[in-house]
Order: sequence, then C-alpha cells, then structure tokens
Amino acid sequence: MSIDIKLYKNDLPEDLELGNSVAIDCEFMGLRLGRDPLCLIQISTGKKDAHIVQFDRKNYNAPNVCKVLNNPKIKKIFHYARSDISFLKLHLKVEVENIEDTKIQSKLARSYTDKHGLKDLVKEFIGIDINKQKQNSDFGGSLSEAQLKYCANDVIYLHEINNRLNDILKRENRIELYKKCLKFINTRVDLDLASFVDDIWAH
Ligand code: MN
Repeated sequence: MSIDIKLYKNDLPEDLELGNSVAIDCEFMGLRLGRDPLCLIQISTGKKDAHIVQFDRKNYNAPNVCKVLNNPKIKKIFHYARSDISFLKLHLKVEVENIEDTKIQSKLARSYTDKHGLKDLVKEFIGIDINKQKQNSDFGGSLSEAQLKYCANDVIYLHEINNRLNDILKRENRIELYKKCLKFINTRVDLDLASFVDDIWAH
C-alpha cells in the first residue's frame, strides 16, 4: 500500500485540514518520561496519509499541533494513549481532549488473548504483518525513508482497528466500561507525571 507521507519541521502547517477524526502516534528517544525527549508526532486522517512533525526539541513550540490535540471536536485515536499523552503533556504543555485508545479497547474486547500490541491488532483486523524493525531506532536526527515508513505504519491502520474493536465491545456489552476507562486516561497520565507509575489500586 502506498502511503502519502508529509514531513514537517517543528509544527503542522497552519491551514492543514485534518477532519474530525485522526489517528496519532509519537516517537521518543526512549520510554522514560522526563529523561527521554519527544521526537515526532504522526497524524493520519485515516485516508492512507501520515503527517509527521519533527519537533524542535529546544523549545517544543507547536501551536498548530496543540490546536488539534485540545480540540474536543476532533477525535484522537491512539494505541496506548497513556504513554503518548504523558510525553505530549510534559513537553507541549497541552491537554488532550476526545481520546480513543485501541490498546485499552483490545484488552477489554479481546479477552481471548494476551497479545495487544499494534502488530497483533494489524495482523488480526487488517490481515497483514507489519515490520517493527525500526521500532528501536534513532528518531532524533535526520530520518531515513525506512524510518518514515515505519512511523506512518503506526497510524494508518488505527481508524479501522478502532471501528472493529468498537463492534466487539458493543456486541459483548463492554462498551460502557471502555468509555469509563477513557475518562480515566488523563488522570492516569497525571499520576505518571507525578511519578505514581505503579497501579495505586493494587494491594
Ligand atoms: Mn510508534
């Protein structure tokens, strides 16, 4: 499948029309919040496109990205929103509104498996094997074609996966539980930002 990939420096263009439902993923220099910089955000409208912004890590000034993230009229589909939103909130100082999360959906909908990675979901619902070879690579410098393609792959299937998982959640009467979980995501993020990283409900 050919993907329309656009790479921008520092921020999205001001006049870019993304519609009312976007898929979002980010790449960091590592997984530790506070230590590892946020490098990229990838945004797809669900029409085989990927708008990739490489942030200026000296100031993270990206008002057009923030406008999309905190617009409650635009649905944002993440896979594991907790991690992406923690980094976005820390670095861009933005509140993310109107969130969906395919990993939380999968955990509630697909209780027949313990495999909830994006690769597993793409395999089950799209029927293809995506290459995660570039997952652990350096997103801080200039980006190769292979890296851009990998980043784009992480957002182009999320709309379809989100729809398919919603169908299962409705069928299994778990959709309300999922919606309640979504309301908690920003609290989970704030716990992470306050260094309460473990499950505070655990005994
Ligand atoms: Mn990714």
